[in-house]
Amino acid sequence: MNILYFEFSQETNSFNPLLCDLDCFKNWTYREGEHIFTDLDPSVPIETMAFAAAAKEAGATLVPSIAMVSQSQGPVTADVVDLFLDKVRATYETMEQVDGVFAALHGGTQDTREDDVCGYILEQVRAMVGPEPVIAVAYDMHGNITPKMLHNSDVCCGYQTYPHEDPYETGYRAAKLGLMKLRDRSAFVMTAVHLPMILPCAGYSTKEEGPFKEITELGHRFVEEGKLLDFSLFQMQPWMDVDPACSTVIAIGREEAVAAACAQELAQRLFDVRKELKPDLMTIDQVIDLALDKETPKPVILANTGDSTNGGAVGDNTAVLQRLIERKAPLRFATMLRDPGAVEQAFAVGVGGEAEFSLGAFYNKVGQVPAKVRGRVRSLHDGDYFMEGPYSKGLPQHVGRAAVISVGDYYVMACHSPANTGDPQIYRHFGLEPKLFDLVEVKANTSYRLPFSAFASVMCTVDVPGCVGVSDLRSLPFQNIPRPFYPFDEMDGYCVGKAICYN
Ligand SMILES: [Zn+2]
Repeated sequence: MNILYFEFSQETNSFNPLLCDLDCFKNWTYREGEHIFTDLDPSVPIETMAFAAAAKEAGATLVPSIAMVSQSQGPVTADVVDLFLDKVRATYETMEQVDGVFAALHGGTQDTREDDVCGYILEQVRAMVGPEPVIAVAYDMHGNITPKMLHNSDVCCGYQTYPHEDPYETGYRAAKLGLMKLRDRSAFVMTAVHLPMILPCAGYSTKEEGPFKEITELGHRFVEEGKLLDFSLFQMQPWMDVDPACSTVIAIGREEAVAAACAQELAQRLFDVRKELKPDLMTIDQVIDLALDKETPKPVILANTGDSTNGGAVGDNTAVLQRLIERKAPLRFATMLRDPGAVEQAFAVGVGGEAEFSLGAFYNKVGQVPAKVRGRVRSLHDGDYFMEGPYSKGLPQHVGRAAVISVGDYYVMACHSPANTGDPQIYRHFGLEPKLFDLVEVKANTSYRLPFSAFASVMCTVDVPGCVGVSDLRSLPFQNIPRPFYPFDEMDGYCVGKAICYN
């Protein structure tokens, strides 16, 4: 069996003014051919390694084409998608026979031409390889899983954990199902229910008790009871202003009627709890007060979800730093920032030097202002390091040139292009040990909870106005999402549609 393999991943925030061009991918992950596998430590737990392992177990040959991954930010430039498809086509043309296509896609990607990039990619690939080869795809849970994507593929598996801990397992599920379908076309059917709903990412988790965890557990029960072979609950990346748009429940099973019934039950339950799946938001002052009053040396974690670069926000907000300065709060504070201007100024000043810095609002000037401070340059970095995990442990990170600048006891890690900001190495690598601070600002929605809970006194969610990733979705200028759609419409009493059988 010969299987074509490729990866394309970027989570788009339509409100981020920074377009994602080829350099964004090249600075992050851009690997061709065998380098997709050989340039990575085989123990890094990502989809690619799982597809390779499953193919090897089955005696199948995986033919790697291209892997392109960028950090989350604004829409991708369309030339990047054209280049990607050219590379996939070039690999395809070298293959004498193609039995299947395995792919890792994010699923929530918009470009400057297409609202549904992954649907476009799969449509092009299906046209390229023809109707016979099995197409099996692993996605992030935050994919916008459209009918076009499902019409043009045979297997769709999404992460089942949030914070995400299972990229490897998801790739493995998709590969195993793809191999099963390759051997027996009638092995299973894939059913789906699309939901007119987006929810703020900080409002749900599969790690902590709550309705989303319960519905996920119900899905696992359906699998244990043999009703389903696999299920996925996709919560569409909520900062995408696109059409089509949907959250989606996928149920894969041997019998269509059973799979469809499971999909509908999971989907109705998910829709019915939508109003419960929102974060308890605090104000910046409330969290500063908590840090001032705490009776333990452990740090208070302030999650500035609105500026989460993981969700595609810009990462250039300094509202918390500014409030601490205004209040002259006697706290040791650490924060991180996307601000190439401050970084390059720090390089010019040099380690130990002092200067007047303008910190923040470098890109996003709507609703936020920079902090004007006298800062001292503490250290300078090339910005390359490895994640500590558990999510993607050992994966190389490239945040571009970076500088640590201190303003009294307040420490700012400024860099060119932050990513995976929920991983403590975003501080530790740069000489800032989070445990040694009273207050740590983390620009992430949920990913930080696993690693930071190990040493935090308390973790608080704050939404800073002016950021393009705020949890109050109705405060953002959505224009394209098809209506009616929650939370822009209440949709009380809505009954989910009948599950669609895609193959
Ligand atoms: Zn995600």
